Amino acid sequence: MALIPFDDRDGFIWFNGALVPWREAKVHVLSHALHYASAVFEGERSYGGTVFKLVEHTERLRASAHLLGFDLPYSNEEINSATAQVLNANGIVDGYVRPIAWRGSEMMGVSAQATRINLAIAAWAWPSYFSPEARMKGINLAWGAYRRPAPDTAPTASKAAGLYMICTISKHKAEDEGYHDALMLDYRGYLAEATGANLFLVIDGKIHTPTPDCFLNGITRQTVIALAKARQIEVIERHIQPAELANATEVFLTGSAAEVTPVGSVAGEYHFTPGAITAALIADYDKAVGKSAT
Ligand code: PMP
Repeated sequence: MALIPFDDRDGFIWFNGALVPWREAKVHVLSHALHYASAVFEGERSYGGTVFKLVEHTERLRASAHLLGFDLPYSNEEINSATAQVLNANGIVDGYVRPIAWRGSEMMGVSAQATRINLAIAAWAWPSYFSPEARMKGINLAWGAYRRPAPDTAPTASKAAGLYMICTISKHKAEDEGYHDALMLDYRGYLAEATGANLFLVIDGKIHTPTPDCFLNGITRQTVIALAKARQIEVIERHIQPAELANATEVFLTGSAAEVTPVGSVAGEYHFTPGAITAALIADYDKAVGKSAT
């Protein structure tokens, strides 16, 4: 399948306050964000033309920026209305939305206090193409090549570009070894999350999920916890040892892009059969986002 590069497409991108033709939404090679990872972003999904939990995503974008020491030069309302403009201008109904804020080119050193803060919002079509049957097979995870850093080692609550360096390395290694994704431990050796999604285990009919004290407390994670509680399923947030995977009957990931994705195995050592709880939460999540039945 030929890849269509992301910088060579038709459409419009919202760039510092206005829609510009897609191919013109460029940055210079001497941009602070490119050299020093001074960038934060979001990953959102639109369903039927509306972004699910847009308010929460925009709030997190601003919070992520604050953790990197800068503020967004637009109000949340302006960002939300810009998001709607982007979806409209590109005719996107079911799609993915990528806002990104970054330090520009005014200063090129570690100190970059006077750089302009830029904001762009792009969106592209991303229909859900997995049938319920295919989705229920489960993905296979390898162990991540790196651990999630401690909160006093990196701004771990920020959806910051720099924190994805170890995710890309881990995911590439997993893919090279024939897995779909990698499961990362945290700095203490507890289970943390996949490279772009949170982790849940079903043990004795209860849901266990790692305490998000050094990785993103995902918006989907919070949604799925509420959905499980609404079904009277007990949800326990705690530190979980890797060996406890042996006690899990079902394992799944959550994320704006991943939605609720069942896991079939970890490191070829632990095997799971997506079951009733995963299926129920997939159905509940689909309903919550307003996805039409497939
Ligand atoms: N962890 C990481 C590293 C992620 O990239 C994501 C996706 N943003 C998540 C967790 C899940 O977050 P959310 O449910 O807010 O998309």
